[in-house]
Amino acid sequence: MFNWLKKLFSKPEPVASMPIKEETKLLEKPCRTCGKPIFYDPSWEHIPNYCKDCKRKYQDEHNIPRIMKRKCKRCGKTFTFLSTIKHYPNYCKDCRAKFKEKKA
Ligand SMILES: [Zn+2]
Ligand SMILES: [Zn+2]
Repeated sequence: MFNWLKKLFSKPEPVASMPIKEETKLLEKPCRTCGKPIFYDPSWEHIPNYCKDCKRKYQDEHNIPRIMKRKCKRCGKTFTFLSTIKHYPNYCKDCRAKFKEKKA
């Protein structure tokens, strides 16, 4: 009983500059680098330890490729590729494979 009430009061006061949406069930934890609050869903498989800014910075500094998403111009399927490649593809792997087949 009154679990929701307990949760409400155990939460730290929201920072004025970062308004928290009342409907969200996201939990909050500080970023390991900058201490900025990270909002996460406890059901997520991977709970982030760093905020988006720090993660991006870290990835840039260490040249860690990001996974990019695009829609295939031919079949409309969403496909992923790494941000490190020079030319971002317009077509998914399947369609690119088909193009190659035709050329061969
Ligand atoms: Zn951070
Ligand atoms: Zn395609």
